[in-house]
Amino acid sequence: MPSYSPPLNDLGFVLHEVLKVQDSPLPGYDELTADFTAAVLDEAGKLARDVFAPLNAIGDQQGCRLENGVVRTPEGFKAAFDMLRDGGWTGLDCDPEYGGQGMPHVLSTAVGELSTASNMAFNMYAGLTHGAYSAIYVHASDELKAKFLPKMVSCEWTGTMNLTEPHCGTDLGLLRTKAEPQDDGSFKITGQKIFISAGDHDMAENIIHLVLAKIPGGPEGVKGISLFIVPKIMVGDDGSLGAANSLSVGKLEEKMGIHGNATCVMNYDGATGYLCGEAHKGLRAMFTMMNEARLGVGLQGLGQASAAYQAAVAYAQDRLQGRAVTGAENPDGPADPLIVHPDIRRALMDQKSFIEGARAFALWGAVMLDDFVKTGSEDADGMLSLLIPVMKGYLTDKGFDATVKAQQIFGGHGYIQEHGMSQFVRDSRIAMIYEGANGVQALDLVGRKLASDGGKHVMAFFEMVKTFIKDHEGDAALKAEFLNPLKAASKDLQSAAMYFMQAGVKDPNAALAGSTDFLHLFGHTCLGLMWSRMAVAATSALAAGTGDTAFYENKLITGRYFMARCLPETALNLARITTGAAPVMSLPAEAF
Ligand SMILES: Cc1cc2nc3c(=O)[nH]c(=O)nc-3n(C[C@H](O)[C@H](O)[C@H](O)COP(=O)(O)OP(=O)(O)OC[C@H]3O[C@@H](n4cnc5c(N)ncnc54)[C@H](O)[C@@H]3O)c2cc1C
Repeated sequence: MPSYSPPLNDLGFVLHEVLKVQDSPLPGYDELTADFTAAVLDEAGKLARDVFAPLNAIGDQQGCRLENGVVRTPEGFKAAFDMLRDGGWTGLDCDPEYGGQGMPHVLSTAVGELSTASNMAFNMYAGLTHGAYSAIYVHASDELKAKFLPKMVSCEWTGTMNLTEPHCGTDLGLLRTKAEPQDDGSFKITGQKIFISAGDHDMAENIIHLVLAKIPGGPEGVKGISLFIVPKIMVGDDGSLGAANSLSVGKLEEKMGIHGNATCVMNYDGATGYLCGEAHKGLRAMFTMMNEARLGVGLQGLGQASAAYQAAVAYAQDRLQGRAVTGAENPDGPADPLIVHPDIRRALMDQKSFIEGARAFALWGAVMLDDFVKTGSEDADGMLSLLIPVMKGYLTDKGFDATVKAQQIFGGHGYIQEHGMSQFVRDSRIAMIYEGANGVQALDLVGRKLASDGGKHVMAFFEMVKTFIKDHEGDAALKAEFLNPLKAASKDLQSAAMYFMQAGVKDPNAALAGSTDFLHLFGHTCLGLMWSRMAVAATSALAAGTGDTAFYENKLITGRYFMARCLPETALNLARITTGAAPVMSLPAEAF
């Protein structure tokens, strides 16, 4: 089964040489010295490599079991969860008032990549708890926060997010779960939720469900949705645990991947719940944590790609098949290793250049999140909101593609279970679906985000790219290999945005038919920008003659590959977009 090696040098490079977090004036960033982040990531990496990764295949093989109404997690999960909790990892970026460590989000994102890469299903239990923590932290009353947050920060109690119902997925306006007000100010929650990740398990003494429901008599559709805190076990005013609440696990879903995570049907039968935030403003409450949650899912795409790539590299170095066309490279052996073959190299370079660009993109997103959360910067919030559907959609689409490319390198050995490659493909697939399916991310990008605030944020993006190019085009090699391709991609993106503004206004189908292409066009351009920023950092390190020369030279080689071979896809995206609605919409529905 694959082992996992934490990419500590790459994380350090992005944090300190590209994003230069140590020089940032953002509150809390003064603590992020290179020594400090290296020490934290080293410890997180050991946990990922030595504890989480060895449980990945076990979780896949054993899955979760429902026994007498309680979900049992795979062997070893409980002990690993204790280690995660005891090490204080679950509250890394949480408020110290509730027992957190108050670290910037950029650090927890770097740690998060290691966790999710080594064992995605396992780390979802803590990830969902963090999402529930954030919603309660921002919206609940002080009393509810004091009651629930400390134990959620420590993960003694875990959390869930309950949106989906059998007839209601993307379209939350169809939601039926009811919340009836009680005299004591609480609510009785009744309804069924499906596909609830980490809905039940045996690793925590209580589970705090966040449930979307409608208060009878409220507005129709999404405007009538409220958010409720519904504990599995009732909690007294002194924090003590009481009787079981009226809720149960109806069923555990059998599914394609993430078998180690319990995906539950949850039945609420008049369960006691407490309103979190204002009545009928539940969706807004959910939206505040959406950026963080979607960045987290994007990280899953990157993490699975990174772990699968590591396995593919090891296999390509080891497996002997065929000879290099330019002459034997392993003349004493019966054949050369796979890695001599150009087509294998292409697949590996596709993966490597995506993964390293995606890592920089995700960490840049986390810096913007910190900027908004810590300073209230509207510009940071606007840019992040624009880019979040791209981070979620592009990183998970491309992350999945990367796991398939890694699997392909194993030939038939990738298709059987033994090498663990099918698990990467199966596990990464869900990230394209949940937390807003990727088609809906594209819809959000084109239908809402592009034009938000009069297009101010997309204009700011173009301006940022333009300024970056201007600032660095004095270097001829950088200009030819990085900045010119970036300029071409940015031009394609502008042309597509312009097309939507003109044709899309006349015919909305013309814009939506090209929405996924636009999301990918934007994603490629962002990675082109990140690779250009990495190239500037690597070039200046080489000029200074400090550090590991081979590391920086290899960065440039990988970046050149992305700019030359991957980024030109923007032209194809643009060509598709400008064909408009007709090719997509002409066939009558009954002719399919
Ligand atoms: C393993 C797993 C874990 C999950 N965990 C959770 C969880 O913890 N909590 C929770 O609440 N939910 C969870 N979900 C549910 C998940 O978020 C939903 O499956 C997802 O939101 C899509 O809803 P749906 O399945 O009903 O698909 P639908 O909404 O029926 O959509 C079907 C397809 O149509 C597309 N589509 C829908 N509307 C449009 C449109 N207007 N334009 C273009 N395309 C459209 C979608 O992109 C999708 O591809 C989980 C699901 C799974 C499988």
